[in-house]
Amino acid sequence: MPTPAYAAQAPDAALAPFTVTRREPGPHDVDIDILFCGVCHSDLHTARNEWGGTTYPVVPGHEIIGRVVRTGSHVTRHQAGDLVGVGCFTDTCRTCPNCRAGEESYCEGGISWTYNSQERGSGERTHGGYSTRIVADEHYVLRIPGNLAPDRAAPLLCAGITTWSPLRHWKVGPGMRVAVMGLGGLGHMGLKFAASFGAEVTVISQSPSKLSSDDAAMKAAKNRFDFILNTVSAPHDYNRYLQLLRLHGNMTLVGIPPEAIPVRANILVGQRRSLSGSLIGGIRETQEMLDHCGLHGIDCEVETIPMSYINEAYARMLRSDVRYRFVIDLASLK
Ligand SMILES: [Zn+2]
Ligand SMILES: [Zn+2]
Repeated sequence: MPTPAYAAQAPDAALAPFTVTRREPGPHDVDIDILFCGVCHSDLHTARNEWGGTTYPVVPGHEIIGRVVRTGSHVTRHQAGDLVGVGCFTDTCRTCPNCRAGEESYCEGGISWTYNSQERGSGERTHGGYSTRIVADEHYVLRIPGNLAPDRAAPLLCAGITTWSPLRHWKVGPGMRVAVMGLGGLGHMGLKFAASFGAEVTVISQSPSKLSSDDAAMKAAKNRFDFILNTVSAPHDYNRYLQLLRLHGNMTLVGIPPEAIPVRANILVGQRRSLSGSLIGGIRETQEMLDHCGLHGIDCEVETIPMSYINEAYARMLRSDVRYRFVIDLASLK
């Protein structure tokens, strides 16, 4: 199916109208009319080949909300008319230990990312949600609770699960002191989730100028936190923040600075602290996260934009000029 989209054709090219070909739905596929797609920093990094490995043309977008148009003959989880979501990956090997444990984001057998990747089997390029339709295997399509506004739910598919998963894995709950570093698309969701789990939450600004003027506050917060969710992807000194952890405290990285950052062993040893990392989350826990959001009325703070605004949105993201996520209204492309 020829499908309208927006693509980058080169690292230094603005995103522009493009047509992708979506596959005809197979027996296990769901054909989705895309309503909204969140704009993640990964989209920008990939469009501009900042991580290397981008194959052009590339259609970004992995915070997809849409409505099921039709389903393959074997599909049991979704039906036409359902509000559904697609996140960062649309297929995995399903046989490796991690897939079998429901930890598909750590698949060892080859993951099909939602864009700039290949479909398993066919080897066709994958293209993301800056488009009007997507076809995906039902196992990788999530149910969206009906009480959530579709545009405000879109960023849950990446920013939401990326912060939810480590908070759950390390059992953040009542009585725990949690710090969230960086108040962007990820950080603001980490803040909402940690608070909904009953933790006492502090936000540590990512602005370097602010941090350097806050030495007194940093000193006062030494040995204070049980858990730090570090969403900052700009280079910064981990040691400075590890010292804020109390005995057995853990700092988890979900942001990926471009360069290696040295960690001093004495800071980890001193209070038996841990430094860890976390990548997105599995399908089962993504559904748990969405159901929790439906139950507690949790969604994302968004600025909804037309598709044609995407290049301006990227420029504003680089200035941190968004509270806290841009979401594309795909009606603007239909
Ligand atoms: Zn993302
Ligand atoms: Zn696997």
